[in-house]
Amino acid sequence: MTELTERLAAGLFHPMGVDGVYARTGLYEGVVERLAALISEYRPAAAEVFRFPPVMSRADLEKSGYLNSFPNLLGCVCSLHGSEADIRAAVQRHYAGGSWTTSLAPADLVLSPAACYPIYPIAASRGPAPRGGLVFDVACDCFRREPSQMLDRLQSFRMREYVCIGEPNDVVAFRTYWIERGQQIAQRLGLPAKVETASDPFFGREGQMKAVAQFQQALKFELLVPIYGTDRPTACMSFNYHRDHFGTTWNFQDHAGAPVHTGCAAFGMDRLAVAMFATHGLDIASWPASVRDALKM
Ligand code: 5GP
Ligand code: ZN
Repeated sequence: MTELTERLAAGLFHPMGVDGVYARTGLYEGVVERLAALISEYRPAAAEVFRFPPVMSRADLEKSGYLNSFPNLLGCVCSLHGSEADIRAAVQRHYAGGSWTTSLAPADLVLSPAACYPIYPIAASRGPAPRGGLVFDVACDCFRREPSQMLDRLQSFRMREYVCIGEPNDVVAFRTYWIERGQQIAQRLGLPAKVETASDPFFGREGQMKAVAQFQQALKFELLVPIYGTDRPTACMSFNYHRDHFGTTWNFQDHAGAPVHTGCAAFGMDRLAVAMFATHGLDIASWPASVRDALKM
């Protein structure tokens, strides 16, 4: 652990025995709540709100193509199935010094890897998107299997997103708007942020080609904050254009009958909160007045 990690972790988190999974202190959680309220101030008037549980349909995520892109990051819910005798036998193996886990079988649930996946089938089930498109405000606890001791790389973290579904020009305008707003929010928070073109960590060699294409087509931008130094700044927000991927997947059309295009502005609530403490220190009372104002503290 770096010195910064140790200092921050001591004030903000309590370890829970697994890398990247922490109990959060009241000090930390207070800032997460105020950041969430600040982001809500920017909620588009037309946005429909959904708060998702930390799990979602395995079939829906499979259909979304997640296994092609990030199979290594996915967490699947498994449980003991079968008769009472089967389940009892698995438990007894555990108490006899063996493992109960060899009897686990996958359930119909995965741990949600991002907040926006569940919204596309819900929105598609209502029929074609209207002219001008749709906007949603979604959030959930997300899981990605990336154990790390760095405080900006958690296995379990909170994500808030504004999502746009409509015609290409709706989504492009939405994303341009949020790249601006994201920078404005970071400025109000006193975070020395910059926005850059980015790519997702697609799995494997084939994935590297996808990442290059995504980068070249400027489909993803990230708002970066130097939590661990300017040479490796941390993505605290991302602005994504999925083109017609979810429209085609969910047979979801716009008012003119073409597959909808989609995009999202994602706020990493835990990364933003860690960035606040890394930038301004653990003593909230000594944070700059303008920052405290923005957070209504
Ligand atoms: P993306 O889908 O762009 O990878 O993630 C959206 C946002 O979620 C990121 O910009 C970041 O703020 C947050 N995020 C992604 N991965 C992690 C992680 O490992 N830990 C934490 N705390 N936040 C993450
Ligand atoms: Zn998203």
